Amino acid sequence: MTIHNIPNQVIKEKLAPLKKVEAIILHHMAHDTADVKTVESWHINQGYNAIGYNFWVGFDGSIYVGRGFNGGAHTLGYNDKSIGIGFQGDYSKQREMPDKQFNAGVDVIRYVMDRLGGNIKIGGHKDFNATACPGGHFPLSEMKSLVKRGGEMIYNYIDENMPEWAREAVQWAVDNGIVKGDENGLNLDDRDLRYLVFLYRSKGVR
Ligand SMILES: [Zn+2]
Repeated sequence: MTIHNIPNQVIKEKLAPLKKVEAIILHHMAHDTADVKTVESWHINQGYNAIGYNFWVGFDGSIYVGRGFNGGAHTLGYNDKSIGIGFQGDYSKQREMPDKQFNAGVDVIRYVMDRLGGNIKIGGHKDFNATACPGGHFPLSEMKSLVKRGGEMIYNYIDENMPEWAREAVQWAVDNGIVKGDENGLNLDDRDLRYLVFLYRSKGVR
């Protein structure tokens, strides 16, 4: 995982270090295309000292450090005790998060958790303030479950426990004999799911 600096980052005043971090809070931009420099300029124009988020993730999987482990400006009442991660895009609209962005989101959350340790809650902005952010189409539960379970989760059935993004591909793999399973079920881990989704998406282009 590579974390980039924001090119020519604007920091107007020295930032205060975070206190004990209780939460990782995920946001969308509520804008279809705005990139990290555009979002930074919005925040600077609103009088913030720097981009409000601690980290920011683009559609292409690029991760940027905004305020890093200093206090942020993203979630009322939590800015000095949480890490805010911004995601490019408007997930209030029907759209699928690109795999690269999803995976980078999982990576940066794990990175923050490894760095800080302890009991850290992961949630969307809407879990902390009265807002729709990060939007109803943001894959919040899928991202949380991948972060928490790492590679340990085993999926035996195509049911509610299996992430929704994988179900169609797994069904296709079962139908075509690519996955057989045994008396206990399919025995697939997260890596298997990702590979099957990859296979499913590339079928027909071989
Ligand atoms: Zn938000």
